[in-house]
Formats: sequence, C-alpha cells, structure tokens
Amino acid sequence: MKKILKVFKFGGASLRDAERIRNVGNILKDYVADQLVIVVSAMGKVTDKMEKVVQAHADQTGDASALLEEVKQQHYQLCGELFEGPHEVYDLINDLFVEVEWILEEEPHENYDYMYDQMVSIGELVSSRIVHAYLNTIDLPSQWLDARDVILTDNIFREGWVQWEETEERAERTVKPMLEKNEFIVTQGFIASTSENFTTTLGREGSDYTAAIFSFCLDAESMTIWKDVPGVLTGDPRLFENVTKLDRLSYKEAIEMTYYGAKVIHPKTIKPLQNKNIPLYVKSFIDPTGDGTYISDEVDDTYPPMVAVEQDQALVMISTRDFSFVAEHHISYIFQLIAEFRLQVNMMQNTAISFVLCMNDIDDKVDRFAEKLQDQFKVLIDRELELITVRHYQQPLLETLKEGRMVLLEERIRKTVQMVVKKVPIMKRK
Ligand code: ASP
Ligand code: MG
Repeated sequence: MKKILKVFKFGGASLRDAERIRNVGNILKDYVADQLVIVVSAMGKVTDKMEKVVQAHADQTGDASALLEEVKQQHYQLCGELFEGPHEVYDLINDLFVEVEWILEEEPHENYDYMYDQMVSIGELVSSRIVHAYLNTIDLPSQWLDARDVILTDNIFREGWVQWEETEERAERTVKPMLEKNEFIVTQGFIASTSENFTTTLGREGSDYTAAIFSFCLDAESMTIWKDVPGVLTGDPRLFENVTKLDRLSYKEAIEMTYYGAKVIHPKTIKPLQNKNIPLYVKSFIDPTGDGTYISDEVDDTYPPMVAVEQDQALVMISTRDFSFVAEHHISYIFQLIAEFRLQVNMMQNTAISFVLCMNDIDDKVDRFAEKLQDQFKVLIDRELELITVRHYQQPLLETLKEGRMVLLEERIRKTVQMVVKKVPIMKRK
C-alpha cells in the first residue's frame, strides 16, 4: 500500500533539549503509517550562537574558538542525555565541528556572507544528525538526507534564491529512491547549495520555507509546522493580551500577515504550497492532539482583526536636492538599488519632491543603500521604528495600538491598515 507523504517541520524550540527531542519522537510514533519527510532547524538559539562565532572570527576578537566550543559542548551534552554509551553520532558531529575549526584557523574570508553560510549551516547539520540517530534508537528507522543535495540556489549567500527546475530534478533523483524504502527521511531546514557545491542559507527562520520546497517538489499531501503555540494566533501573545487562535486561514491571509512580520511562519513558505494546493497545518508540539490552524485555498471573509508587528524598521526619506519633482527615472533608479541590495520594502509613499520607504533594517544594508543614493538625493533615515499591520481592522483597536506611539506614516486599503510608528513616552500631568 502506498503511504501518504507528509512533510513535517520541527523548529529550534521543539529540539531545545533532550526532553523536547524525546517529545518529537513521541509525536512521530503516531505517524508510522505515513511516509514522513522531517525537516529540522538547528537546536534553539544555536543559530544565534553561531552568528556570534562568525562575527568574532570576522573581527578577529580571539574568542571565536571558545564560542564554538560552547556550541559543541551543548550538543555533546545533549547526546550524552539521549544516547547510552558510545554512539557513532559523536564522530559524525565531531567531523562537522572540525570543518568549522579549520575555517577559524584561516584568515576571515573577505566575503562575510559566504563565510557566514559555511559556518552557521552547521547548526542544522548537527541537529539533523542527532534527531536521525535518536529516531533510529526508538524504533523509528529513518534515513538522513543532506538538503544541499536537493535544494539548489543562486550564489547569493545568506539569502539564496531557489533554482526551482534543478531543485525539482534533484528531488526526483535523490529523494524519490529514498522514499521507496518506506522509512522516514530526516533532513535540514535553512540550508542549500550553489551549483559549485558551496553551502548557502535561505535567510533566518528559513526552515519553514525548506519544508515547503520539499512539499512542492515531492507533491506532499500536506505540510505541518510544529510550534510552541497552539496554531496561528490573531497577534503575538508576547505583545498582546486576548489573542485567539485562528482555526482556518486562507493562503492569502497567511501570506499577507507573515510578509508583514507575523512570526509564526516564514513568509516564503506559502507560495510553493499554494501553487500546488498543499494544505499547511500549524500545530503545537506541546499539545499535539490540538487541531491547530489549517491553511488552505478556501476563502473565508469573516476574520477577526489580526495584528502583525515588525520591529527594526527604517523609514528612508529620499528627496531631490534641487526641488525637481521625483520623476519616473528617479524611482526607477531607486528600485534598481533596492533590487541590488535585496531590501524588503514594506511601505512607500511619494510627494512632489520626495519618496518615502519603510524597509527592514538588516545589517548595514540600509546604510549602503543610502550611501549610493546620496550622490543624487538628500536622504534622511529614521530608525528603530515598528511597522504595525492590521488586517480586518476595527477602529477602537487602531486607537489602542497607537497609544504611546507617534505615527510617522499610515496607509489604509480596504481590509488593511499599516502604520509606521515610533515609541514615545506618554506624558502624564503631575
Ligand atoms: N536555524 C535557522 C534560524 O534560526 C533557521 C530556522 O530556524 O528556521 O534562523
Ligand atoms: Mg524557527
């Protein structure tokens, strides 16, 4: 009998420690009748820690090795708790760490992003080795797959763009034969490779996207993201009270909200699923029997208000120096630069002599963008702003969202209000 193919994604929080990994094993036991492709992230916070290693190496601060050692020990300790006595997994993960140690012995590479991907990718490689080894000890025979043998990207490090045709071909060639074995497949989220076999990454939190790429290429019946929340909520519970779970959501709602900072799902996840009409479940690994949220192509027009807050926004005000109008050729030049820097523009507005853009303020991208513009324009940047997006808004909610905040830019279209705000202390009469 042909088994049903499902793609599961487990994020860093679900693999945080031995207890959580055992919990994942327990969840998987309920799916032995299915064919699973299991995509795992690095263990909780490992990617952040590896970023620090990269930075320390780039700056030659002298503590890169010690920071790496910490990451290594964290994994060894975990293995000590999961496996009894000696186990081949120690050698496997040691080999991975040795590769990073070699990088540290050399001068930092001039291309930071390249170096980043070669080092940070270790998080997923190691966690997938551990999960794979663990499943085999609990009678869930599984195969380990190197996602870099399947997902091909262009040469842009830290934000590789998937080359779909080749990726589909490679999935056919590499994964299809593995599926014949009737065993689970464990692979890594987040990482991919260039045509020259250099490791790339898909952008922070990219493991959801990886799972969607596999779902697409293998025509999965469904995809499930296992999270520490009961499903997709109407707002971030760390920021808002009285949030509720959405039982059902259309692809369109999901993509709109995630694009603007709802952190539950990586925004790139929806498109491959929508294109093949593969439903997405968001479920809780803490309460795996809960219904979670079901995301599909169905259209439902009666949604409660939903709020997404995206931090670290920069508002870039670009104006002509000589009072000439901002014309098409200016805008075209600005957009050419935006594409070059792969900036994400969240909102924009133009007036006679200026053009305002709200964008994600990542690394020094916005500064480099502004520097280029400076030859032709006057550029002002306002930073540390928040972008608040409200779908299906109600006026009273908007008022409370604005409390203690100054609205620098606001836009309303049909169901959506977006505002770029700056926190200001509320003055109170003494
Ligand atoms: N480990 C990567 C990150 O933390 C990818 C992911 O978790 O989705 O960004
Ligand atoms: Mg994650």
